[in-house]
Amino acid sequence: MSRIDDVLGEVAALGADDIAWKSGRAFSLAYYAGPDVQRVADEAFAMYGSANGLNVDAFPSLRRFQSDVVSTVSDWLSAPDSAAGFMTSGGTESILLAVKAAREFGRRERGILSPNVVMPTSAHAAFEKGCYYFGVEARRAPVRGDWRADVTAMESLIDENTVMLVGSAPQYPQGVIDPIPAIASLAQSRDLLCHVDACMGGVTLHFLEISGETVAPWNFSVPGVTSMSVDLHKYGYTSKGASVVVYRTKALRALQTFVTDNWLGGLYGSSGILGTKSGGPMAAAWAVLRYLGDDGYRDLTLRARKAALQLADAVDAHPDLVLRAHPDLTLLSFGSERVDPFAIADSLATKGWYVDRQSPPPSLHCTVNAVHDQVIDEFVADLAVAVGEASAAATAGSAGAYGTVD
Ligand SMILES: *Cc1c(COP(=O)(O)O)cnc(C)c1O
Repeated sequence: MSRIDDVLGEVAALGADDIAWKSGRAFSLAYYAGPDVQRVADEAFAMYGSANGLNVDAFPSLRRFQSDVVSTVSDWLSAPDSAAGFMTSGGTESILLAVKAAREFGRRERGILSPNVVMPTSAHAAFEKGCYYFGVEARRAPVRGDWRADVTAMESLIDENTVMLVGSAPQYPQGVIDPIPAIASLAQSRDLLCHVDACMGGVTLHFLEISGETVAPWNFSVPGVTSMSVDLHKYGYTSKGASVVVYRTKALRALQTFVTDNWLGGLYGSSGILGTKSGGPMAAAWAVLRYLGDDGYRDLTLRARKAALQLADAVDAHPDLVLRAHPDLTLLSFGSERVDPFAIADSLATKGWYVDRQSPPPSLHCTVNAVHDQVIDEFVADLAVAVGEASAAATAGSAGAYGTVD
């Protein structure tokens, strides 16, 4: 046995080279709302980290956390009273389940054996993963010049085996909202399901809306939207492992669950992909929602939005940078005609900044959250220096990756 303090000291020390997200140096992957919110999340997580959400009869606490969290998020989404959802481990699991539900819908209601889902090229990679896992064909339609879904192009890909259409609010790569009413009404006119991926935008759009900003229609208030996903471990500022998937009806939600008694262990039901499921993320999400309340979230949302607009303006004004799209929320991407964007990212990395690298087209991507409010001026200044350095060096940078496999 080792001493507790020694082990915990080692655990802390191993994080020495991790990106400094609490100081706002990361424009991807992690979100920070300050030490108070972090403490609420961490302590709630620690209390329930070993509790098991596989069976909420045994853990009424987790049942309560889940039902309260799903109900609050459903309100943000203007979901009807008939709606029902679950907490999942993340946006990917929420999306996998929506794809699985769509496959079941096709099988049970239409006898479709080779289903396909039609979505714009901007829809998240998790849809590709879900289609691959569940034997569904992913049909990708090009986006318009403004990076939003081209609904006419989507329509041309629909056939008798199509089970679902997808739109995003916003899509990740350029941070713009797809024309949700057009996608949902197309789905409705063809009797198809329609998933709106609000993994990134669900929290932000609701709180921008109640702060009086005009936002494009994006949620269940649009007829024809049948399911939605919202990640709390992003702009909900809670611990990793928390997302919500909501369906317009309980009957639709039933398409995502799994039940069997075809083994020696008795009746086994599970709401999502996981079996054993940590209660930590559920408790942390409940605690942070309760702690922040509407006022807290509104404040964080407005801070993130302000920093995002400041960055977008600076990029737009820089002669060597091209802003891909004016951000609808807090995500933006930019490239350059003259300088290799990845070389700019390499130079930013030497100054301690982490930005996402994406293509096509080769671009840098920033997910701006509340923590960036304090550092955005410094980042803008360093970005200008980095463009200069990349331009002088005239070397190619490395392309990086959104996710890794090692
Ligand atoms: C983050 C994200 C996802 C995937 O969520 P994970 O939590 O990383 O699994 C899906 N869609 C969008 C738009 C996202 O931003």
